[in-house]
Amino acid sequence: MSDYKKTVTPRVVRMHPADNVAIVVNDGGLTAGTVLDKGLILRDKVPQGHKVALSDLVTGQAVMRYNVPVGYARQNIPAGSWVHERLLDIPPARELQGLPMATVKPAPQAPLEGFTFEAYVNADGSVGTRNLLALTTTVQCVAGVVKIAVERIERELLPLYPNVDGVVGLEHSYGCGVAIDAPDAIIPIRTLRHISLNPNFGGEVMVVSLGCEKLQPDRLLPPGSFPILDQRDAGEGPDLVCLQDHEHVGLMSMIDHIVQSARPHLERLNARRRQTVPASALVVGVQCGGSDAFSGVTANPAVGYMADLIVRAGGTVMFSENTEVRDAVEQLTSRAATPTVAEDIVRELGWYDHYLERGRVDRTANTTPGNKAGGLSNITEKAMGSIIKSGSSVIASVLAPGDKLKADQKGLVFAATPASDFICGTLQLAAGMNLHVFTTGRGTPYGLQACPVVKVATRTDLARRWHDLMDMNAGRIADGEITIEEAGWELFRILLDVASGRKTWAEQWRLHNALVLFNPAPIT
Ligand code: CA
Repeated sequence: MSDYKKTVTPRVVRMHPADNVAIVVNDGGLTAGTVLDKGLILRDKVPQGHKVALSDLVTGQAVMRYNVPVGYARQNIPAGSWVHERLLDIPPARELQGLPMATVKPAPQAPLEGFTFEAYVNADGSVGTRNLLALTTTVQCVAGVVKIAVERIERELLPLYPNVDGVVGLEHSYGCGVAIDAPDAIIPIRTLRHISLNPNFGGEVMVVSLGCEKLQPDRLLPPGSFPILDQRDAGEGPDLVCLQDHEHVGLMSMIDHIVQSARPHLERLNARRRQTVPASALVVGVQCGGSDAFSGVTANPAVGYMADLIVRAGGTVMFSENTEVRDAVEQLTSRAATPTVAEDIVRELGWYDHYLERGRVDRTANTTPGNKAGGLSNITEKAMGSIIKSGSSVIASVLAPGDKLKADQKGLVFAATPASDFICGTLQLAAGMNLHVFTTGRGTPYGLQACPVVKVATRTDLARRWHDLMDMNAGRIADGEITIEEAGWELFRILLDVASGRKTWAEQWRLHNALVLFNPAPIT
């Protein structure tokens, strides 16, 4: 045995005293014969992040994690065994009838005062953490032209406007060839509309359209849906470049038109300066992706603690990912501020159940091979670890996919979205997120151009290997170095710094994932 093996202390984490399994913490897992601190001897080799039975489990017995059944034993499982997914039956989905509605009233938490950050204050009172020019597009057809125009604006104009952080072409695959009058088409349309109005774009709305597309500019941005700045004539509509206009002769005339139109927007954005604003101006979207069994042990509980701090500071935290909260629906409805909010949760999750049924799948389609290799046996176990990100506050309100937060929608918000990283991020941008927190165990280089993404690693091993991609290492919780509370405070302070302009790793490397629209309506 190497010196390393001799000195390593076997470590397992149990989330709740009533749990009959615990998670192996050590890098590389633990070998059969390892003696745990209570004298339990491992019967199998158990990989890192996987479950070990703490007591003898009989066939049919509930396997408890987070004090909830994450599965039922398919056979007798002796204490010390590796409890892997093939040994478990998944619990049935909770019906959406007869749920506890707004029954739990968490004690109000003490307000948190005195925390501020430096931000761009918009005319409508919203607050940007970045100062970006966005080019809204009505249809995918214009994407190539917009890409060339953006490159020219970056090269020729941005050096003249040093206070502008960048220019973002809002490219997407929607706009034509779609059943635009289908009831569900409202979701992609309002998503695009609301992304154009994200607080990080400073209220400057500039649209590039093709001309013949189904999603016409005034359908995307009806009069009154966007801010009218002093400099512009009310009623004129947003600043629009239409590629099929007769004035355009050749590609370069289109590009020139877009570049010249960008100038006044850049001038106004460039004149802005960061101002000190209270932490209550934060609108944080939280998400996880590439999850493992540590997500629910380290990073997500730290995010949950941070979420409580933001709510105490008067800010807004959105959590999402329908299929990852569906198995914990009782926890959501019982924590709703009012029965109406609880009904909104049931409405959104019920709509999503129906959406999945139409595709002949259910919530179990969520887990990935990487989730399972990382120790998450099924969606129930993943959900319990995911929902911890929401912290312990009451759920103040609910947003449907593509909806935008209203100015008074503060506190903890359930923004109903699919769990897909890119779709969830896109919908949270539409909701008005100005800062994104993303936890990962398997590792993903995820980033968005429109909004800083703070990435939190669930394991020290990942944080070490991905040292120039992860903004924080919550694996230190499992290593016994810091507590969940300390990690939550550390993340809260990182968020205030990043909101004030400090670049995330994804920003430094310019790692930008595409916007991906949620379109439940038919394509034609
Ligand atoms: Ca996700």
